[in-house]
Amino acid sequence: MVTDLVYHESFVKHEMSIGHPESPDRLRSAMRYINDRGLFEGSGLTLLNPTPVKLEEVYQIHGERYLQSIKERSERGGGFYTLDTEVNAHTYNAAILAAGGGINAVDRIMMGISDNAFVLCRPPGHHAEYERAFGFCFINNIAVAASHLIQQHGLNRIMIVDYDAHHGNGTQNTFYSSPQVLYVGLHQDGRSLFPGSGFPDEMGEGKGFGYTVNLAMYPGAGDVSYNLAFTDVIEPVASAFKPEFILVSVGFDSHYNDPLTSLGLTSSGFRMINSKLSEIASAYTSGKIAYFLEGGYNIETMGMGALNLVEELLGISTTAFDDSYSESNTCTEYTKALIDRIRSTAPLLL
Ligand SMILES: [Zn+2]
Repeated sequence: MVTDLVYHESFVKHEMSIGHPESPDRLRSAMRYINDRGLFEGSGLTLLNPTPVKLEEVYQIHGERYLQSIKERSERGGGFYTLDTEVNAHTYNAAILAAGGGINAVDRIMMGISDNAFVLCRPPGHHAEYERAFGFCFINNIAVAASHLIQQHGLNRIMIVDYDAHHGNGTQNTFYSSPQVLYVGLHQDGRSLFPGSGFPDEMGEGKGFGYTVNLAMYPGAGDVSYNLAFTDVIEPVASAFKPEFILVSVGFDSHYNDPLTSLGLTSSGFRMINSKLSEIASAYTSGKIAYFLEGGYNIETMGMGALNLVEELLGISTTAFDDSYSESNTCTEYTKALIDRIRSTAPLLL
């Protein structure tokens, strides 16, 4: 396989307050694990240096004044949007390179130059709303890429799977009334975690009704629950939708040792998820899949997860790590009931 790893030094220059969990060390750890495994030498992995996104493409997803406000704050050297989401002198550059890198990645896959890609970027994007920086996010990178695939490549069916621990509110809202983008979110229940949205009754509106599927997982849900979610909901939904391209918001904060969340995945669970996504891509999109980094705040877990993801994309054997966690029966039973509810209400599954 030819896999693009999108990376730019600006991604580690964007930095929020000292001690902020969304830190440059997250990417340094990912690069260290991938490099230590020797994957930059003859494995088919290409380090892709991104080009800045064309602003017109961002304006499909965000307001012009909002984007200019990020630029102005960066030029001034910094500024706050919310308590935990702030700009430094490099944020605007990093954000337009992250969004541009996503477009570079999907363009190369569409042209057949590469098979798949991992956009290893900061800042992340899935919480960013039309005119609102939110939850460490400024430009919604995955939404910009989905819009580009529809408008520039003429695709009609994009499936976005978001398995970051937090609900991808910005991505969901961008395409809430569109039948061209199927948003599937797997995240910790919004009653127990930021941003407090992503419930099963959020299913889209108008022509987009049925094209939003939310699996709000019980705190503590791990490998068993995620396996059920894929077998009983995500694989059937993909079969009904028949995507032409799969985009994934990957967050390693669904791991049991993440400091900000309460889910229960292990590194083996992440490998299972990525392998199932590869199978869905092989079945419907000739393997066309691109991953976008969102969260993940345990630095070692970030590295392990990024390495395993790159190995999966390259189609080589994955490195096993000895982390383990068992979810409670209560979690598994809750997930089964959630799945039953979704299977009896989600329009794509009726
Ligand atoms: Zn997250």
